[in-house]
Amino acid sequence: MRVRKVGSITYSIKDHWNAKQVRLRVTPERGVEVTRPKGFPLREIDKFVRSHREGIEEALEAYEEQRQDLAPDDVVLHAIGQKWTVTYNPESNSPGCSLHENGDELRISGDYENTDLLTEVLRMWLSGKGRQHLVPWLNTVSDELDLPYAMAIVRGQKTRWGSCSGRKTISLNRNLLFLDPSLARYVMVHELSHTEHLDHSVAFWNRLGELEPNYLSLDKATKSAHDLVPTWARME
Ligand SMILES: [Zn+2]
Repeated sequence: MRVRKVGSITYSIKDHWNAKQVRLRVTPERGVEVTRPKGFPLREIDKFVRSHREGIEEALEAYEEQRQDLAPDDVVLHAIGQKWTVTYNPESNSPGCSLHENGDELRISGDYENTDLLTEVLRMWLSGKGRQHLVPWLNTVSDELDLPYAMAIVRGQKTRWGSCSGRKTISLNRNLLFLDPSLARYVMVHELSHTEHLDHSVAFWNRLGELEPNYLSLDKATKSAHDLVPTWARME
């Protein structure tokens, strides 16, 4: 295999005895690859790559964006007003992937190139932050509104921000941490109101309106707030 450079594009060439024509592939793992039929002049291949420059650059940019979505440079939890810088530290011979929180740094070591492992370790950390911050916050709102609940659980649901069972168990989505504090609080007030009215009846909305006069616009805002959650946190 050989590697060549045309302008800003670096690509690798694989000689292929049976290939009938030049073929070009761009993948996140291996970048730009060209298959070269036997005896095909290298100069012609450079020309071929150059003629596809725009498409190649677009593909590479899209892969870089995808990588950023799964391997973030920072994590911003608006609900609690905290931000961490993520650093990636290669460590040979260590299977798995680990995370250490050190002040405002999240230090990732191990096999973070494996995005399944990396995003899993980030989600575990996020669940911990959820239990640490969302549950005491729910307690405060519960006391404030005088609406007691039985138990609180922090989960990583895909679509629901929270729920309340007939036994007054309240589930909160850890991804509430990415939302504005007013939205996170609204979800808590909403679920606490379900301790009195389990359904979405007129009585429920009336009660919620007493507790939170802005409930209509806040409820609408939570519907579109899923976009604020980064890809790595959205996966299960
Ligand atoms: Zn509801």
